Formats: sequence, C-alpha cells, structure tokens
Amino acid sequence: MRGAVFLGNRNIEVRNFPDPTPGPGEVVIEMKASGMCGSDLKFYRSPPGEAQKSLGFSADADPFIGGHEPCGVVAARGPGVSEKEAPIGQRVMDHHYAGCGVCKHCRVGWSQLCKAGITVYGVTAHGGHAQYLKVPARTLVPLPDELSFVEGAAVSCGTGTAYGALRRMNAVGGSTLAVFGQGPVGISATLLGAKMGMRVIAVETNKDRLNLAKQFGAEHALTPEAFEQQKKDLTRGEGVDLAMDTTGASAARIAAVRCAKTWGTVCFVGEGGDVTINVSPDMLRKQLTIIGSWTFSAMGQAECARFVVDNRIDLEKIFSHRWKLDQVDEAYRVFDQQSSGKGVIEF
Ligand SMILES: [Zn+2]
Ligand SMILES: [Zn+2]
Repeated sequence: MRGAVFLGNRNIEVRNFPDPTPGPGEVVIEMKASGMCGSDLKFYRSPPGEAQKSLGFSADADPFIGGHEPCGVVAARGPGVSEKEAPIGQRVMDHHYAGCGVCKHCRVGWSQLCKAGITVYGVTAHGGHAQYLKVPARTLVPLPDELSFVEGAAVSCGTGTAYGALRRMNAVGGSTLAVFGQGPVGISATLLGAKMGMRVIAVETNKDRLNLAKQFGAEHALTPEAFEQQKKDLTRGEGVDLAMDTTGASAARIAAVRCAKTWGTVCFVGEGGDVTINVSPDMLRKQLTIIGSWTFSAMGQAECARFVVDNRIDLEKIFSHRWKLDQVDEAYRVFDQQSSGKGVIEF
C-alpha cells in the first residue's frame, strides 16, 4: 500500500509499505477519508521526532505514516475479533489511541490517559494517510449512516476535540463563549457552540478564517486587537462566561484567561508551549476555573457524531480542500498557510 510520511522540516513523501495484516484482537480499516488536523502541522514543520517529544510522546526513529483522523470501512479481522465486534464492510471511525486495554482509563474509553504507555496513530505509529490502517478492534467507533466519511474524519479529532472541550466546560445555552483561533478545532467550537445556543465571539488573526467563523454562527468575529477594544462593550463590562484557547499560543492563552468574567471558565485545548498567569489578579480575584481538555473518549467520539447528526450540522462545509494521497505535499503546503478551512485526503 501507499502512505504519506512526515520527514520533518516541511517534507512529506508518499512511500510504499507492505499491506498490514491484522494480528490477534486487531482489524484493518480500508481508508475512505483521512483528515488534516492543526496538530499535524507540528509534525510537518519540525525536525523528525521533535514535535512528538514536545507533546510528551516517545518518538520512533523510523518515519511513520501521518494522519490521526482516520475514517473508512472494516476490511479484515484478526484472530479473536468477532463478526459482531467488527463486521466486514462496517463504516467506522477510529478512536486513534491504544493503551493497555485493561486499566481503569482504557476500560472507560479514555485509553489516551493510560499510564502503561500509549500508541497514538498518526503521531507515534502509522496513521490514516494510507490506503490501510491496522488498529485494535476496540478502538473502532461506528460511523452513523447519516454522516459521510469526510465528516467522520472531522469528528475523529478536530470537531470531536471541540465537542469534548465544550462538554468539559459545562457549556450551556445562553452563555457567551469566546473561541481563540479558528483553525479546524476552533471553527468546530464556533459551529457547535452556536448550535448549543451559545453566543460565540470568534477571535482569530486571519481574515479568511474570520469570515468562515461568521458563516459558522459566530455573532462576532474579531482580530485579537479588535476583541481587546470591544470586549467590555460586548459583555457589559463583565467579561465572557466561557473562553477556549485552541491556538496554544501564550498570547491567546492569557487573553482567554483575562477576558473571562468572575466565576468564568477557561479551557486550554491548543497543544504545546506555555503561558504565564499572574495568579492573584488573573485567577483568585475572579474565582476563575481553568481546565485543560485533551480530545475525547471513544464514547465521547460516538456522542459527538450523534450530536452532529441530530442537530443536522453539515460538517462537510468546514472542508475547504479535498485531496488525493498523491497530492499530499501540496495539501500540506496549503494547510501550512493557516488561512483556509480544513483539508482532507480522500481515497
Ligand atoms: Zn490502560
Ligand atoms: Zn488532532
């Protein structure tokens, strides 16, 4: 089979690999759509292995196939996997992490929190930018019939991550939510937040992405500078109920902390980097809640898919670019500009 590997320093190459055969407990997914997530840019841009290290993962010496938003159909089952568990031809997403499979975190579907060491498909092991992907059968999440493979890919990280963060923030309708960054995760938070009945203020430096945010339900879409000037007026001087940072940039993180009102909640979703918080004025004097949110559980992924179906959200719209595997170099060059909507590789 053919698969795209990140070689580091903005080099990506399609290479030949042997077709995977499923071992005990494993299945092979025939890929139909493999999404491009904002965090893929870390692997694309940095020297080989550096991004993994900065995210706290081990880095293998061998280049592996990228893509952690895989969506396709079950193509083969290994020994011990029942027909009921993974029917051939079933439309599936993948919860793209594998842990030990038996600890308390793994058993409730939060395998990425496993303390025994985890595999992240597309990050520390072969991922979805290939014709086939071998994963444990227990990582499969059925794709509702109403969703396309492309939409399933979005739910598999970017949109699912936004959904998981909103749920963790106890977001309720009627609240004012500021979303920093309008990349694939941020634009999903805008879209889902608006659907949940929140008043969304999207904050983003790129003009095209600000326009997208408006289309996806943001009441206001502002540059960071404009937001600083207008935030008082927009919130009657109180600040926002909820703020989410999807950028990982220090400036956006501290802006999220400072724009939240007394008793407000701030959620950090963007990966890497750091932030300096002046604890007394920024947190204590405001009774502020600051939380981190890392993607979602396998059940949360299924729930996000259900939410998209039940609320008739057209997730296809967040994709501005569709590519074939052979175009992967161009696909990441375009994505690297961070000015477009989401990209996906279709098979
Ligand atoms: Zn475990
Ligand atoms: Zn991701």
